[in-house]
Amino acid sequence: MGPYGEAYYSEQVMMDFSQSLSLPPLDLLSTTQAVLDSIPAHIAILDDTARIVMVNRAWRNFAKMSEADKDYLGYNYLEACERAVGSEAAEAARTAEYIRAVLAGNPGPFRMEYPCATPQGDFWFALTVSELRGARWGRVMVTHEDITSYKQAILASAHLAAIVTSSADAILSITPEGRIMSWNASAQQMFGYRPEEIIGQSVFRLIPLELHDEERGILARLCRGESLPHQDTVRLTKEGVRLNVLLTRSPIRDDQKQIIGSSKIARDITNLRQAERALKESEQRYRALSEAQKRFVSDAAHELRAPLTAIQGNLELLTRFKGMKKADREEALQEVAKEAARLGRLVNDMLALARGDAGERLRLEPLSLHQVLREAFATAQGMANEHTLHLIPLPNVEVRGDRDRLKQLALQLLENALKYTPAGGTVTLGLRRDSDHAEFWVEDTGIGIAPEELPRVFERFYRSDKARLRGEDPGGTGLGLSIAQWIVEQHGGTLHLESQLGRGTVAVVRLPLTPSRD
Ligand code: ADP
Repeated sequence: MGPYGEAYYSEQVMMDFSQSLSLPPLDLLSTTQAVLDSIPAHIAILDDTARIVMVNRAWRNFAKMSEADKDYLGYNYLEACERAVGSEAAEAARTAEYIRAVLAGNPGPFRMEYPCATPQGDFWFALTVSELRGARWGRVMVTHEDITSYKQAILASAHLAAIVTSSADAILSITPEGRIMSWNASAQQMFGYRPEEIIGQSVFRLIPLELHDEERGILARLCRGESLPHQDTVRLTKEGVRLNVLLTRSPIRDDQKQIIGSSKIARDITNLRQAERALKESEQRYRALSEAQKRFVSDAAHELRAPLTAIQGNLELLTRFKGMKKADREEALQEVAKEAARLGRLVNDMLALARGDAGERLRLEPLSLHQVLREAFATAQGMANEHTLHLIPLPNVEVRGDRDRLKQLALQLLENALKYTPAGGTVTLGLRRDSDHAEFWVEDTGIGIAPEELPRVFERFYRSDKARLRGEDPGGTGLGLSIAQWIVEQHGGTLHLESQLGRGTVAVVRLPLTPSRD
């Protein structure tokens, strides 16, 4: 005999039902009971008046009832719902509502999911109320199941989805063959493809051609279950722009542990790489600058020492040999004066360069370049020494510039031309303009510069050996062209020299008519 049949079912109903199946009534009941007991959800069967006619083992366990306990049979579920208080009242009221609906002819099923905090922890339950269609006994089935792990899985996947969606990194997944399966918002932003354009397409679209072989190898490794963290590589956007990305790849397995694809997390590090490159460049610039400064200081000390030593030596001679011949005395004094003048020029030139190094900017104002050149030419005429100074008629050219510095520039080039042109040679000054530039040049028929020396003449203190060793050393400092170049740069222009050894040199200055300096 089944445990509940005797307690509740009318013998007549059971007899009728079992006879129709040619089964003994209690066998049928115990079979039904056994089936319900095998189901993990809590199940209660109610009759037309909502009284419990059968429950399964899971229900009894949940209600902490022993198998022999039959008190609940005949218990009215609706009344129990109405008695519920506290946190359960709301769910109980809804359950009652569902049961009434089924009893009123609506077959359902009605379902609700609800959380339940217990001393054992937080649980989620699902309650379903449905009609027992065609049943001879029992009208309503109430099932109640613990869906905590299912709910946790849903919540966990919702959390994961939110992480994937909101991640600043591009996250995508691909099949073992390399077809894109998922594509988050950052992937769209980074690579420019909308999901509908790229899902189902080959991941090789994102990979530069030269990396395709490598990628095939990587796909094979992922398919063997290897994870590949942090590869610094390059990817292509929809427009073909190359991005530096940091890629992390892992295989994706199904619940049978079979590899069904791989995930990729790509971080755009293009800006980072650019910043690194810029930092490296500025470090190199700084190092070069600091080297140049060191060289400048040591060269300067060296250059200053020569005239100083000459001055000291001559002064010592003059003080030691009081009775020295007048002519020798004159010569020593002249030497002192010459070296002192050289010292003065050196210090002035160094100061000019130091101001430039310290970031001094010239004030550029509208001026007539032809006038400035004419003044410089007039000054140079005073220095000419058996040279022919030739001025090609100057056209009127207006530029924006610093008048004094432009004059200094022209004079420097004229002075050099005179210095390095032996007596009898010719020095020519010319000026022309094109649509956006003024160009002036100083040409001489002097000693010229050797091709290997030409790139070095703008270096500070650089003087060709020829220049140094010339018997009639005109007292150069080796800073003239450095200063000239600084002046030209300040005007947004260029200065270049063309020269042929033994035949002469031409220095060409090009200045924009309206300089744009940053
Ligand atoms: P310096 O004070 O020695 O003239 P610069 O900086 O003006 O220094 O010139 C550097 C070097 O370039 C000179 O020492 C000289 O060797 C060479 N140089 C410059 N201008 C000319 C020129 N017109 N003809 C030949 N050599 C020149």
